[in-house]
Amino acid sequence: MKRVLITGAAGFLGSHLCDKFLDNGFKVVGMDNFLTGSEDNISHLFGNPNFEFYHHDVTKYVHVSGDLDYILHFASPASPIDYLEMPIQTLKVGSLAPYNLLGLARVKKSRFMIASTSEVYGDPNVHPQKEDYWGNVNPIGPRGVYDEAKRFQEAITMGYHTFHGVNTGMVRIFNTYGPRMRLNDGRALPAFMSQALRGEDITVFGDGSQTRSFCYVADLVEGIYRLTLSDYHQPVNIGNPQEITIKEFAEEIVSLTGSKSKVIYKDLPKDDPKVRQPDITRAKEVLDWTPKVDRAEGLKLTLEYFQNKVK
Ligand code: NAD
Ligand code: UDP
Repeated sequence: MKRVLITGAAGFLGSHLCDKFLDNGFKVVGMDNFLTGSEDNISHLFGNPNFEFYHHDVTKYVHVSGDLDYILHFASPASPIDYLEMPIQTLKVGSLAPYNLLGLARVKKSRFMIASTSEVYGDPNVHPQKEDYWGNVNPIGPRGVYDEAKRFQEAITMGYHTFHGVNTGMVRIFNTYGPRMRLNDGRALPAFMSQALRGEDITVFGDGSQTRSFCYVADLVEGIYRLTLSDYHQPVNIGNPQEITIKEFAEEIVSLTGSKSKVIYKDLPKDDPKVRQPDITRAKEVLDWTPKVDRAEGLKLTLEYFQNKVK
């Protein structure tokens, strides 16, 4: 059986990846320090003989005994509220952690994968975003702690590939949603859904004309799985190109929940990207991957989860 180390295993994406690899016959070693994750996301895996879990901060030296065929580095605060509250942890987990884990990958001869992000494109001047666009990021703005850590993470990963021959891969993840997102993580979907379910005002930032393209978690995980099993070294965008304004997204959620909430407008956070949409030509060509779940279906599946969480 192949064995995979997943950092950030107790988080939203990490926990779904643990499920995906276990379902496909892998042994999974999960690692997390619960900075933004929750034991609830992986409690169903305790007792599974193919799952091990280590409570560990991956910015510190990482040791795992035995073989590791794959290492997936997914640990990092990921929502703007989280990384604004924890800027130094965010910088460290994007720099010291990949440094530690690339060393581990070198020793174990593992394929090393990083969770990069559409944020490497910043507030993009090219639309939709293709992998060969270098981005427009403010390094010293509030989002810089996340965006630049992720850009460094790509650079160190490519450095270890080029200079040490480590087998590496990088996925640039666009806004993803689904069950196990934290209710209060401040991202648009959990914010709007919990506000709608509680009958509170829906807080749209700015005039809501900024766009995002939301991908359902099962589609994202399938793309990451295919990329992990490939030997492709260049970055690959994984996301759903269905683009929508944030105002329309808020209205869609109000209508889906049948809520009486009304949309109110608050200040737009500094450096909030105005548009975002993945060009997924490369994922189609290299991985034969396209998203299958449209937003109406994905939102329904996510609502079932949030209905049980919002009291
Ligand atoms: P999340 O906050 O739910 O999960 C992150 C996990 O990492 C948490 O369980 C947290 O406790 C853990 N973690 C943080 N610092 C750690 C440390 N030093 N040591 C050990 N564990 C640590 O976030 P998510 O949405 O699941 O994001 C996972 C990854 O995907 C992140 O790297 C994020 O940057 C990336 N990403 C996510 C999205 C998205 O839309 N969800 C988009 C782009 C990129
Ligand atoms: N947003 C909003 N209200 C909220 C939370 C977010 O209008 O309560 C907006 C935010 O300003 C951004 C978009 O929704 O334009 C997506 O935000 P999110 O934090 O989900 O992701 P990111 O900005 O990282 O794409």
